[in-house]
Amino acid sequence: MSDAVIAHLQHERDAILERLKALIRIPSVSTDPAFAPHMEAARQFLLARLRTAGFSDARLLDGEHQPAVYASWSGAPGKPTLIIYGHYDVQPADPLELWHTPPFEPTEIEGRLHARGASDVKGSTMVAVETIAAFLHVHGSLPVNVKLFLEGEEESGSPSLRGIVARNREALAADALLSADGGWASTTIPTVGVGGRGITGLELTLRTATKDGHSGRYGGAARNALREMAALLASLHDDEGRIRVAGFGTDANPVTNAVRASTAALPFDEAEWYAQFGGLPWGDPAYTVRERTTVRPTIEINGMWGGYTGAGTKTVLPAEAHAKITMRLAPGMSPARAQETLRAHLRAHTAPGVQLELTPERGGTPANSLDEDHPMLRAALGVLERVHGQKAYASRAGGTIPITAIFKEMLGMESMTFGLAMPDEDVHAPNEFWRLSSFDAGLRTWPMLLTELGKLSPADFIRPG
Ligand SMILES: [Zn+2]
Repeated sequence: MSDAVIAHLQHERDAILERLKALIRIPSVSTDPAFAPHMEAARQFLLARLRTAGFSDARLLDGEHQPAVYASWSGAPGKPTLIIYGHYDVQPADPLELWHTPPFEPTEIEGRLHARGASDVKGSTMVAVETIAAFLHVHGSLPVNVKLFLEGEEESGSPSLRGIVARNREALAADALLSADGGWASTTIPTVGVGGRGITGLELTLRTATKDGHSGRYGGAARNALREMAALLASLHDDEGRIRVAGFGTDANPVTNAVRASTAALPFDEAEWYAQFGGLPWGDPAYTVRERTTVRPTIEINGMWGGYTGAGTKTVLPAEAHAKITMRLAPGMSPARAQETLRAHLRAHTAPGVQLELTPERGGTPANSLDEDHPMLRAALGVLERVHGQKAYASRAGGTIPITAIFKEMLGMESMTFGLAMPDEDVHAPNEFWRLSSFDAGLRTWPMLLTELGKLSPADFIRPG
């Protein structure tokens, strides 16, 4: 079923690329209210494209902030129903002076399309949309039932996502979520995303006095809040990087031999990985770097401040110190329990008399994982291997993919990431680019994947447990 569709997409390739460029020219920055008219323009652009493609129900699903663009096709009874996810918003382009080309004028240079949103994730999103449009054009039908869900605030923390899902459970009912957001874990080895770690965090303040003091007058005989903060934060790990918080991570799924094997399957050069960012090795030596960054939890100090940080010196004995901490959660870990264990540790390790203030309990997002024997994953790996002529791998992200966790939690569905971005494409940074080779490959892999998924039955998506 996919050959004629692929041929049509090849034939339309330049027109599709022009449509992608037109979408990229709309600066749909979700986080900044000044860009609201552009957000609306991006939505209207997508609705118009979907209506032209034949989706009579293309519409907006309202949230408190940016609505999602939605369209469905359910003409394949007995076939699986997939949510196809992408997002139309982008990160701000700042700092503008660091761009070599105008951020919202897509510029082709040596096989790469330079622009904000090219890689993250208008490119992959449009390949998915155009693939679906091509099936409808060529065959008048799709191999699977689809529900397109294009989010408008992925880049600003998805504040409306839960609300949109809660109000549209029926419209979003499906067997699985197939995400166009995301991409390969390597620039040379095809991968399919099977999940990410969870996240939760807190902020803390320490007080050692009612006011700052003169270090000449009080120094040597009174506790310094910054010193107390340094000691408290240093107690979270041992010198090699093992987490030393009692009870933290005891609910993590064990790193079994099977997990070890799958984590090790993707070729990975630890020395080269450190060299890429000039980083220094750290972390529990019982685990490989890949394991530490994907299936093991972390506690990271993201910021610490207090006292005087301006020019010159100020001989102050600070009364207050602050820090921000986030935890990446391994599969199996409960965000609430991670919060609880970290809070208990901070209370227990704060020196006597020092006041500890913690931000109110925050929720969090648990890790998400697709079974490695899921037929949807086998289908995706097979397609990548046929198109790219090399072995493809399942890969877990170290980061957090809220959409997959929220759809699992609220709608009970599994997710798979079949994005076309590569890890070096400077997303969220100046000079973002997207490889046009990924665009061309996607115009083949997406039709093949939908065709393969059409060979499965909805029962294949029901997982034990
Ligand atoms: Zn992004």
